[in-house]
This record gives sequence, C-alpha cells and structure tokens, in this order.
Amino acid sequence: MRCPFCSADETKVIDSRLASEGFSVRRRRECLACGERYTTFETAELVMPRVIKGDGSREPFNEDKLRSGIQRALEKRPVGTEQIEEAINRIKQQLRATGEREVRGSDIGEWVMEALRELDEVAYVRFASVYRRFQDVDAFRKEIEQLKSKADKS
Ligand SMILES: [Zn+2]
Repeated sequence: MRCPFCSADETKVIDSRLASEGFSVRRRRECLACGERYTTFETAELVMPRVIKGDGSREPFNEDKLRSGIQRALEKRPVGTEQIEEAINRIKQQLRATGEREVRGSDIGEWVMEALRELDEVAYVRFASVYRRFQDVDAFRKEIEQLKSKADKS
C-alpha cells in the first residue's frame, strides 16, 4: 500500500502480529522512500447480506427484528436467553455462509423455523402458523402431522 506520508508505492512490513484476541493482524510498516513508519490493521470483512422481501424490495439485515420474532414465538416457553442467542448466532452464520450479497427473507424464515423446531415445538408451531399462513398451507399441515406422529412414537 502507498505511504500515507509521501504516497510512495514501496513500503515494507517490519513487524506483523495478531491483535484483538487473534481476530485481526497488526502490521508495522516502513516507507522505503521517506522512512516514516505507520501501522495498519487487517480484519475480516463481515458484511451481512441484504434481505429480499416478499414484494421484491430490499432491506438491511436487522438482528433486532430477528430476535423479536424469535422471542415472540418463545413467549412464556421454557427456553433461556442463552439458547435464543445461540440460535440467533447460528442463523447469522448461515447468512454469512451463503456468501451472497442478498438473501431471500423466506430463506431466513426457514432457518428460524429450523432453529425453533430444535428449541421448542410449541414455539415452532406458533411461528410456522404465522409465517406460512399465506405461503404454503399444505406443507404446514404436513409438518404438523409429522410432529404429531413423532410425538406418538416417542
Ligand atoms: Zn513515505
């Protein structure tokens, strides 16, 4: 990179070490032209994809909105805050793992349902009944039947 003092192209790294508990790299550089020294930090760019809504419009990913949707489904259910935060982190990882700049809101909805199904079946049914109301009634009915038959077996 260019020297911020004299804009020369040639700089060399004289020291490189991990910082922020290993989540970034701190480099000490020296300009070969003017001899000035300066520090750069390198960190991973973790940009959340944007969310494509049902009507085709886009909005930034909103973690608070995700959390409140999950909390609403889990109201008065025996699931702790820590488990909710873990589920949210997992969904965020799935979002990043897509590697896409934009992700359909319906995909996020599916991940929320998966997470809720593991946490609490009542919450899952609550969320799914609201979420899938106008989308896919048949698929939802099948889900309920599967849950019922699973419950019968166990
Ligand atoms: Zn320089």
